[in-house]
Amino acid sequence: MAEGDAPRVEYACERCGSVAVTRDAWAEWSLENQIWALSEIFDFAFCHTCHRETRLVERAPRQDPRP
Ligand SMILES: [Zn+2]
Repeated sequence: MAEGDAPRVEYACERCGSVAVTRDAWAEWSLENQIWALSEIFDFAFCHTCHRETRLVERAPRQDPRP
């Protein structure tokens, strides 16, 4: 890690530790960029391994692809 870089984090399911988790959010159409841009992110989290609602834990990445 280069000096001055903030340590990277990942979010995982508090129940099973999987990183296959998503949050509820709104996407708003950006006329300028021609993409659906995130405008709001909500607290609701879903684990796609447990297939149910979960809470997220923030942790250091288990596998960091950055050299
Ligand atoms: Zn899970």
